[in-house]
Amino acid sequence: MSLVIVGSVAYDGVETPHGRVDRMLGGACTYIALSASYFTPVSIVGVVGDDFAQEDVDLLAGRNIDLAGLERVPGKTFFWQGVYSQDMNDRETLRTDLNVFADFQPKLPESYKSQEFLMLGNIQPGLQRQVRSQMSNPKTVGGDTMNYWIADFREELLATIKEWDFLLINDGEAKMLSGETNMRKAAAKILQMGPNTLVIKRGEYGAMLFRKDDYFIVPGYLLEQVFDPTGAGDCFAGGFIGYLAQQGISLSSGDIDRRELSRAVIYGSVMGSFCCEEFGVDRFRTLTRAEIDGRFQEFKKFTEF
Ligand code: AMP
Repeated sequence: MSLVIVGSVAYDGVETPHGRVDRMLGGACTYIALSASYFTPVSIVGVVGDDFAQEDVDLLAGRNIDLAGLERVPGKTFFWQGVYSQDMNDRETLRTDLNVFADFQPKLPESYKSQEFLMLGNIQPGLQRQVRSQMSNPKTVGGDTMNYWIADFREELLATIKEWDFLLINDGEAKMLSGETNMRKAAAKILQMGPNTLVIKRGEYGAMLFRKDDYFIVPGYLLEQVFDPTGAGDCFAGGFIGYLAQQGISLSSGDIDRRELSRAVIYGSVMGSFCCEEFGVDRFRTLTRAEIDGRFQEFKKFTEF
């Protein structure tokens, strides 16, 4: 089944202990789309400026990503700059230039409106809601958010996620959103806010999936070297929702095969881990589905008992 993805398409400046790149393709939508494109047909909605390079268009188009909803307007593309701590578990944002993203009013092309899956990347909750309302009857809707929206746009965010089937956030955000420090209590509270499926990402420590009477936990993949964790959470999201779309599993239906949900979490973890192996989106220039499935099998082996 096909998947619509909305979010930032950006240029990033990133510094990690392994190096520094002043400007490279980034953005949550970009990472989610590249990752999900290994599983299912993907269409993106975003905005870029007239500085957006043809080679970056080519990378996305080369993965068969539908760019009909990628608007190009006069001005500069969104720019984000960050620097990572020595262990790469923390990062500091040095610069956020919204540029053309400041006036972003997502408009879905006609061909997108009847698609089955919708993944709303981290943008202002009001815009996420606006996109949701343009879809005719999606089978599965969900997305991501961040601390800024949880703190300063709480009511708008709550009204937005009320209409979602799934929410993907990190552990700090889950605590912030729920007001609970205990993860099990936090998850139970969030599941009462609307989504029936909650995925809590824990960076290098893995991820947890919660539903009303059930949960599934997976450790992180032990990479020999992490070059750049930028986009790992978004690639997790792309693998998770991409796999569900590939299998035609709708999260709005009551009866869902638990093993398929667990596999979606594993594919999310696999895609997040590949993302960290090179700077920016570089790993996606060579990554193959065979490598993805190989790492999926590895996960199976090291979690079996
Ligand atoms: P992640 O590492 O998964 O949190 O994703 C990092 C990506 O998010 C980068 O490529 C940035 O371009 C993008 N990003 C950073 N800040 C924002 C923001 N405020 N709104 C939208 N996208 C952002």
